[in-house]
Amino acid sequence: MIEIKNLRAGYGRPDAFIPAVDDISLTIGDNEIIGIAGESGSGKSTLLRTIYGDFTGGLKLRDGSVTGHFKDPETGRPLVCESSTFQKLWWDVISYVPQGSMSVLNPIMKIEKQVTDGLPAREKRGSRQELRSRLASFLAGFGLPETVLDSYPHQLSGGMRQRVLVAIAAFVNPQLILADEPTTALDVVVQKRILLMLVEIQRRLKNTLVLVSHDLGVHYQITDRIAIAYKGKIVEVGPTDEVFSNPQHDYTKALIAALPRIGQPRQETARGAVGVIV
Ligand code: ADP
Ligand code: MG
Repeated sequence: MIEIKNLRAGYGRPDAFIPAVDDISLTIGDNEIIGIAGESGSGKSTLLRTIYGDFTGGLKLRDGSVTGHFKDPETGRPLVCESSTFQKLWWDVISYVPQGSMSVLNPIMKIEKQVTDGLPAREKRGSRQELRSRLASFLAGFGLPETVLDSYPHQLSGGMRQRVLVAIAAFVNPQLILADEPTTALDVVVQKRILLMLVEIQRRLKNTLVLVSHDLGVHYQITDRIAIAYKGKIVEVGPTDEVFSNPQHDYTKALIAALPRIGQPRQETARGAVGVIV
């Protein structure tokens, strides 16, 4: 579906260029959930935005390529193009769930208008009422009441806003969904609900989901494959189970070793620290 070859991308002018993605090659398949993990600043969001083809805020593709192999949503014919032209596929063939629901949704616009404004023309062929009822039943499928459509973003909880963003991204039956830290800053129960929602969408649409998260637990729960980003490079990629059970790169080993394991005794040092505080 997506072929990334020797990609270099970053920010700034040619004379003062800050690289953020440094020679990444990666193939993203049809019908898979692939995770991109790695610590903050490793280039995950930059890579995702480059795949999305969102060259704003000073982001530049310096070298290499991102090629998409899609199907034309009208004719079903193969559609092959480069990320510099992906913008015409946004909210249609490619959807994006950006980081931070509050900064993304317009605070002074009701959800219904925000959703319908962004839809491709073919979704808006019927009457407004007909579109609204399709939207309402789609949201209901994810446990979101119709009243969400009449709400302003601040009237919804953080978890609900995030679920709305995911639902909006899926409504157009995209072939590719890119989600940047969709569960970060949410409590674990809400996280779980959003992850299940993403899995359900991917199974239903049989499309491709690229999930960025610094949280390895998130990847462990839902991804088929995982790519580990470190200092702008992908240092390891493989089936999630294999990477977790047999990490190859030292950075991956360190990440996995740092994960807490429920059921194992807590470390004496941690208890000691609590003892000092008490
Ligand atoms: P991650 O998502 O893994 O935290 P990012 O892709 O956001 O990483 O950032 C990678 C690098 O690019 C960091 O060094 C960051 O400071 C830099 N960077 C990110 N966004 C911008 C920007 N808009 N302008 C300049 N530098 C940026
Ligand atoms: Mg990020």
